[in-house]
Amino acid sequence: MSLLEVKNLQVAYGGIQAVRGIDFHINKGELVTLIGANGAGKTTTLKTLVGMVRKSGGTIHFDGKETDNIASYNFVRNGLVMVPEGRGIFGKLTVEENLQMGGFHRNDKDGIQRDIERGYELFPRLKERQKQLAGTLSGGEQQMVAMARAIVSQPKLLLLDEPSMGLAPLIVEKIFEIIQMVAKEGVTMLLVEQNAKLALEVSQRGYVMESGRITMSGPAQELLADERVRNAYLGE
Ligand code: ATP
Repeated sequence: MSLLEVKNLQVAYGGIQAVRGIDFHINKGELVTLIGANGAGKTTTLKTLVGMVRKSGGTIHFDGKETDNIASYNFVRNGLVMVPEGRGIFGKLTVEENLQMGGFHRNDKDGIQRDIERGYELFPRLKERQKQLAGTLSGGEQQMVAMARAIVSQPKLLLLDEPSMGLAPLIVEKIFEIIQMVAKEGVTMLLVEQNAKLALEVSQRGYVMESGRITMSGPAQELLADERVRNAYLGE
């Protein structure tokens, strides 16, 4: 069975059907990308996976269990972790304190410290800024904090919503390098990205979402080569 198995997922905001019955799955160890235009329902899908938005129909199985039974404050403990669009960091806390927050549900102090050090290895720039308030960091550095904090929470599935949003090209490259490094360490990831080309290039598989439905799926290389994808999402 897949690590994540979503069947006929539907989500509505009042009368607006944002997600109209989608099926998808993610296998353990995979890096999968979800692409689609603004308003297609990608963010809503991620928020529903971590219990921030309530579904109106369908099923979500994570690690063999239906997620309906997980209390909203327990998703991180269960290994389902999201790095939201806009990063969701604590601006009034230091970099170090933000990373410690990633381990709020853990009891193994030494393990937490080891994972914080691992975060600093991935992002040496954060080590130099451990004592700086996170709110005063650049956008790229804040994205690094969000990703390092997620690593400290020991995710089984990491959901990344638009990690490249608003960042300069060089920083975007750096963030994608880190995504690949984290994937190599065995963290399963679902990536939502406007930068469809870069995202598909680092992924094994992809899904295309349009107006609340999944309209295409397949190996990332095939999607990259597909004419409809190239025209609609790769700006060709
Ligand atoms: P983007 O890339 O622009 O964030 P998206 O694919 O992530 O787009 P969603 O943010 O999931 O799209 O939005 C899907 C639809 O649901 C849109 O029509 C949006 O206006 C609507 N929507 C999203 N959040 C809410 C909300 N809190 N209340 C009402 N409607 C919402």
